[in-house]
Amino acid sequence: MDASDETSSRLLAVQVELLHERGRASAWMSLSATLLVFALLWSRMPNALLFGWLGLRLLLVALRLWMLARFEPEAASSLAHWRAAYTSLLVLDGLSWGLGIAVMAPLDDPVITMLLLAALVAVVAVAGTMMAPHLPLATAYGMAVLLPPAAAQLWRGGVVGTYAGAVLLVFLLLHLATTRIAARQVSELLRLRLLLEDEAQAHARALTLAERHSAVKSQFLATMSHEMRTPLHGMLGLARHLREQALAGASAQRTASTVGLIERSGAQLLGLINDVLDFAKIEAGRMRLADEPFDLEELIEDVAALGGGGARDKGLALEVETDGLGVTGTWMRGDAARVRQVLQNLLGNAIKFTESGRVRIKAVRHAATGRVRIDVEDSGVGIAAARLEHIFEAFYQVEGEFDRRHGGTGLGLTIARELARAMGGDLRARSRIGVGSVFSFEAPLPPALPDTQPQEVPVPPAPRRLVGRVLVAEDNPVNALVVEAMLRQFGLEVELVENGAQAVDRWQHGRPDLLLMDCQMPELDGFAATGAIRAREEELGLPRVPIVALTANAFESDRERCLEAGMDEYLAKPFREEELRSLLACYLLPIDADGIRKGVRPDIIV
Ligand code: ADP
Repeated sequence: MDASDETSSRLLAVQVELLHERGRASAWMSLSATLLVFALLWSRMPNALLFGWLGLRLLLVALRLWMLARFEPEAASSLAHWRAAYTSLLVLDGLSWGLGIAVMAPLDDPVITMLLLAALVAVVAVAGTMMAPHLPLATAYGMAVLLPPAAAQLWRGGVVGTYAGAVLLVFLLLHLATTRIAARQVSELLRLRLLLEDEAQAHARALTLAERHSAVKSQFLATMSHEMRTPLHGMLGLARHLREQALAGASAQRTASTVGLIERSGAQLLGLINDVLDFAKIEAGRMRLADEPFDLEELIEDVAALGGGGARDKGLALEVETDGLGVTGTWMRGDAARVRQVLQNLLGNAIKFTESGRVRIKAVRHAATGRVRIDVEDSGVGIAAARLEHIFEAFYQVEGEFDRRHGGTGLGLTIARELARAMGGDLRARSRIGVGSVFSFEAPLPPALPDTQPQEVPVPPAPRRLVGRVLVAEDNPVNALVVEAMLRQFGLEVELVENGAQAVDRWQHGRPDLLLMDCQMPELDGFAATGAIRAREEELGLPRVPIVALTANAFESDRERCLEAGMDEYLAKPFREEELRSLLACYLLPIDADGIRKGVRPDIIV
């Protein structure tokens, strides 16, 4: 139904509603007028005629009341039908007035005749107001009531007849004109009423949405605050503990284990931030999916191997079934990394919420549709039916805000379902309290030929030692310390500066082999500093110094901005030592006799 159809059917509904509302009063008034006329004509008319007319009038009024009582506002088609039937009945009603009075008005008694005609005029005037919502009805009714007596009076002739007939016709014309105006006004009012209803609804919807956004925001802040504080608390506590250990001369092994714990807390924090970034991308509709061949069986086994430790720790059996993938083989086209992310999340939850029994991953390809379905089943706590749909809402956790026994942000399933949907599939859950849950990820992953060409050119590990001088522009002293330590460990010479202006200056005087450039810095940021260096290089005809952005801005748009500013590479913080080393190996290895660097060009944009 298009917008104009919808407006006219809503208009029809309110119009019929108004007719219905006014119908009963109009029927009772019509009945009163009938009884008055009956009294006026009593003993002046043959009984048969008068009682016959009265019977007809009573029948019509009863029919009107019956139709009004049976009225049920339903579909637009039945409303139109009701209106047509009601209009026909009222036109009959009008004719019973008009023809009845035309026949019964006594020729010898002009006073009674005038009173009868006045009664008709009153009936039409009242009906005009009652029927104004539907112009054709008001028009037809007026004509049915007034035309027969007007014709009868004109036919009768003489001064009284001609005068009465003419007056009735003039009144009828006036009645038609005023009803037309009234009908237009009523329809305008009805339109305004609809508009107002629409506005009120839009307002209510906007209010609900705003309230929901505000609730999600509060929930987001509460969850983030909790989830960030937990690993941060661990990191700070462990760092203090480490200092005490160092002062007390603890063994290297104990120190290494404490540092390992700090690293784990950091990784947890990073996972949280990645989830939030994914969620933001989904919200902004900017999630892009790859379309490459991959081996689904291998991927599932990988995910199971990764989760295996957690399952073993809890004494759970972890089963993998991939036989159902069918004759087309286990190679598919799709976004392997995102499929992995969904499965890791489902498996992580299955293990997290299962205390005993087993967890099973089962993959099948549906023969008819070619779609792949992967079920992750557990024999865990289960989820109550009322909560099942909510678990896919952002930040929702069954245990509620104050009972975070299991940690987590409540974002995992939201992201997993959105990813599944972005792939053209879905993620559904079935569960029974105390029995367990099944999460079914399903997506169209078309079969692909095994990738025979080795995709990943075997990457020789980056050499442990690199050669060269690196200028690091970084305003955060801790980050500067971390990167400096890494660079020195690679065997590089390092110079640190705190902003872009100093970086330009030191580049000019020191001519480093490579620049590591933070993007946001005081005085001159990394983009402007890079621009200035590139401009100077061009001006002086100097070779291009490699500039690598090291930044905590991890969006794709940030990467593009770095490259546009003239940087060569981009590495998002936090990065691992190996990532930095492989990246630098491209630029800081000696060039061999053919002018080719021996390093690897890593594709490690994180
Ligand atoms: P979280 O990071 O909290 O695990 P998820 O979005 O992955 O966030 O899950 C949302 C909630 O759904 C969880 O907090 C948990 O209450 C419930 N849930 C998810 N998976 C399972 C499962 N396999 N068994 C029982 N409850 C689950």
